[in-house]
Amino acid sequence: MPIVPSILRYAASDIASLVWPSTCLGCGQRLLSHNQHLICNSCLMELPKVNYYKDDDNLVTDEFFRESIPIVYGCCFLQFKKGEWSQNLMHNIKYYNQPDLAVKLGRMAAMELQKYGRFADVDYILPVPMHRDKIKIRGFNQAERIATGMSEAMQIPIREDILIKTVNSKTQTYMERSERIANADKIFAAKRVGECAHSHFLIVDDVFTTGSTMLVCAQKLHEAMPECRVSVFALAKA
Ligand SMILES: [Zn+2]
Repeated sequence: MPIVPSILRYAASDIASLVWPSTCLGCGQRLLSHNQHLICNSCLMELPKVNYYKDDDNLVTDEFFRESIPIVYGCCFLQFKKGEWSQNLMHNIKYYNQPDLAVKLGRMAAMELQKYGRFADVDYILPVPMHRDKIKIRGFNQAERIATGMSEAMQIPIREDILIKTVNSKTQTYMERSERIANADKIFAAKRVGECAHSHFLIVDDVFTTGSTMLVCAQKLHEAMPECRVSVFALAKA
């Protein structure tokens, strides 16, 4: 790459950051360097990875085993702890309109997962759907943004016509596990698509709390297409 244009590009980027200061979405420190985007290098180094993706059995796969819902593989990537800087990342995605951060973390997760051969034979990525009324308010579905980053890194297409959210539901935050499963059962549906009937699907969500959403989505996929295989991934463990 020619030296001059590259220097000019970096200088322009640094000048831009002085005019429109951007801060790290983890720790809030100012990002000055040209090679830092959304997250500073020290936060990137200290991302709270859960390491589940290194184990064949982990807390996510256990939940599916417990409910006798077959999955090929399941895992999370990060653990955000309440009150710690890492929780800012998820809050920034969900409540402060930072969809690019979701794409970036999805891409990073996929690159790490690939090192361990996870989800290598997945045919389609299915983001957990968000009701269109909620998308209108938030502007994006964070699960779809995470899935987009993964799709780019893994070269696996996304499909949003198979898993459907039929009802614009209230938050599940304050519900017990059994309530969450019963609630999710009423609001998610899966459509049979003939050409995908034998596919391996990867359901992607932002946060794995009790797993109720992904358990129900996986079950609905198996009911709609009994020959399919299902894997699950959440960016973070709550
Ligand atoms: Zn930082």
